[in-house]
Amino acid sequence: MPELPEVETVRRGLVKSCIGKKIIDVEVLHRRATNPRSLSPLNVAVGSTINNVSRRGKFLWFELDRPIALVAHLGMSGQFRIHDKQNEVVPAHKHVRTRFTLAQDGRGARTTDLRFIDQRTFGWLAICEYRDGVPELVSKIARDIFDPEFDSKKIVAKFRSKRTEIKRALLDQNLMSGVGNIYADESLWRAKIHPQSQASELSARKISGLLDTVRVVMSQALVEGGTSFDSLYVNINGESGYFERSLEVYGREHQHCSRCGGEIRRIAFAGRSSHFCPICQRR
Ligand SMILES: [Zn+2]
Repeated sequence: MPELPEVETVRRGLVKSCIGKKIIDVEVLHRRATNPRSLSPLNVAVGSTINNVSRRGKFLWFELDRPIALVAHLGMSGQFRIHDKQNEVVPAHKHVRTRFTLAQDGRGARTTDLRFIDQRTFGWLAICEYRDGVPELVSKIARDIFDPEFDSKKIVAKFRSKRTEIKRALLDQNLMSGVGNIYADESLWRAKIHPQSQASELSARKISGLLDTVRVVMSQALVEGGTSFDSLYVNINGESGYFERSLEVYGREHQHCSRCGGEIRRIAFAGRSSHFCPICQRR
């Protein structure tokens, strides 16, 4: 599932290829591609120009030259793919859910094909109004760790007030957004914290160190273009990320811990799984 580094990689690609372009057509090919909370059908965006592409946590939105946003969530397997019709034959893709035709003002017939592809259909698009500077559907999502207004001290205190396991707190998008299963496991390993440790029993220093680790791990993943662990995540040009080569615990059950040589374990956690080293990460 795409987490912050993957969504940010997609956002950067969209910024490069979509800013300043006009949406001249929207073709919805699957009903689940539109979030039921969308204010209107996606084609109200036709005629608008894309001013920017923004992100909070795992949510993306296209800022338009209108007081509405086109919000996107990649869900489990959502992808944006860009095809410049001038230069290439666009191959058919059976999981295309929505297709946008973009045009550069003043460039005549030259158009770009922006596709939202989603094999598992948990991803969605929506038309949304703004509230406090962010689209309404994103307004309840907590700031992510790269947000300039992210308040580390406040978040550490919030984590410590939670009577829950630290991994559950890391995944809670209402506390801090953007972290999913892969980066939670990797960060906990690096910070030497057991995923089932009680958040309220960890010192402020330990949690603060964990947040620093999350920032470092996700920054490294961004440099590598994200993690294409299940091969469903690719950037807007269809290329995979390389961070899975740097994974220390996620998906490495029964392999040796690179730090202590112990055996990496996988346990069931919140309907998914946690990977950790029982020697380095004691409770
Ligand atoms: Zn270890």
